[in-house]
Amino acid sequence: MTKRMPVVAANWKMNGSRALVDQILRQVKQSGVCQDIEVVISPPATLYSYFDQQRKNDSLEHVFLAAQNINELDSGALTGEISVGLAKESGCQWVICGHSERRSLFNESSKVTAQKFMKALNAGLKPILCVGETTEEHEQGKTFSSLTAQIEAVLHLGGKQAFKDCLIAYEPIWAVGTGKAAPPEMAQEVHRFIRGMIGSICPETAASVRILYGGSVKPENAAALFSQPDIDGGLIGGASLVPEQFIKICQSA
Ligand code: PGA
Repeated sequence: MTKRMPVVAANWKMNGSRALVDQILRQVKQSGVCQDIEVVISPPATLYSYFDQQRKNDSLEHVFLAAQNINELDSGALTGEISVGLAKESGCQWVICGHSERRSLFNESSKVTAQKFMKALNAGLKPILCVGETTEEHEQGKTFSSLTAQIEAVLHLGGKQAFKDCLIAYEPIWAVGTGKAAPPEMAQEVHRFIRGMIGSICPETAASVRILYGGSVKPENAAALFSQPDIDGGLIGGASLVPEQFIKICQSA
């Protein structure tokens, strides 16, 4: 069986500061967590360059920097937006695509998410495709059909090759920011479904694709989630803003 390197990614959303960048890098370095796993930090865009500089100063080039979002176009009159080229020039190596907050608060469709995903991939950055079902879909037993549609949007635009160098983050919307994480066995069942689906699209990728769980991961529940066979780490929101908690979560992976 392919051994998959665990990944723990921090999504700071519209939070953080230069001071937090300094703290997180210091604690990642002191704890040595990034020897065994890949650590990814996604601060707000105004901190990308600072983060990139500081990790180089600290010889922590293997702590990866992810953009929280990019625009699906390369340039233009789009006040406030950031292209993949700008993110890359600021040091980003990964891109979070289709986070549920982008989908719900900014009306981003699965088609637009797929366009962003392909922009990242074609620029040589690694996309993290976020997928997840709403509370309603969850309650109506529509989780798998909802995830299928979100993944198929990428397949339609990018073909099966699109899945060769990406990560998937399963984030049930009812678990994001609610303090109510999915029970580990339930999350495992969904991760196994996603891996099966990737396998039916691109068989050679099924065993190696990394699938992260996101939604109220805390130091208390991280180990039980990450010990499931198809859960390869996590995408962490709230707890990633507290360096001690984030390090503990990394140590559970
Ligand atoms: P949370 O957020 O850990 O605060 O639930 C996860 C996410 O939004 O990626």
